[in-house]
Amino acid sequence: MTHDCSVKMNALADLHTCQQCPRLASFLKTVKNRYSDYHALPVAAFGDPSAKLLIVGLAPGMHGANRTGRPFTGDHAGILLYQTLHKFGLASHSESVSAQDDLQLIGCRITNAVKCLPPDNKPALQEIRQCNTYLMRELNEFIQSEGVAILALGAVAHQAVLLGLQRKSSLYRFAHGAVHELSEGNGLKLYDSYHCSRYNTQTKRLTTEMFEQVFAHIVADMRNQSS
Ligand code: SF4
Repeated sequence: MTHDCSVKMNALADLHTCQQCPRLASFLKTVKNRYSDYHALPVAAFGDPSAKLLIVGLAPGMHGANRTGRPFTGDHAGILLYQTLHKFGLASHSESVSAQDDLQLIGCRITNAVKCLPPDNKPALQEIRQCNTYLMRELNEFIQSEGVAILALGAVAHQAVLLGLQRKSSLYRFAHGAVHELSEGNGLKLYDSYHCSRYNTQTKRLTTEMFEQVFAHIVADMRNQSS
């Protein structure tokens, strides 16, 4: 399937100044008033522009990406993610605490389904759809630069990726550890994991072993594809 979204992409507002979701734009203003040193704007993707692996989370966390301006940076959700990326050779360091550090991702890029902080970490369906134009553009660029693996962290990210790729969600059900053949571009696959949130890791819904198994699968598949 081809994936040409150029017409829609040209109509996109600049991400940094986007206020297309009134509820989220208003919430960010409130947050900025309370925490003047916080980023409190849409958070752009981070990492290698020629990545083979694209990781898609839900949305910026209040005191993480929303504070620092970089996905999964500065709060609990990033701890397991960056430790695991480093363990599998996908990040230069195992910690991500500030957007001003020298952390580099290696063949990997991280983004979110929704680029603005939502109240209670819960974006509305309309907001997920609205922001999908940005994710769609990222997916399009990722495929064009021969990306091979997308990792969705949680069911919302999974659905957003399918929406961005214009796929029927009923054909690709979310399950931790699931791998979906997308037969697009360079043998593209969608991998699912529970989100590495504080709640999921502290309740052991997602353990370090479970998360590492997902990455082991992805890295092995990427090696096989490139050999
Ligand atoms: S969530 Fe996305 S579409 Fe909505 S205001 Fe933020 S950047 Fe714009």
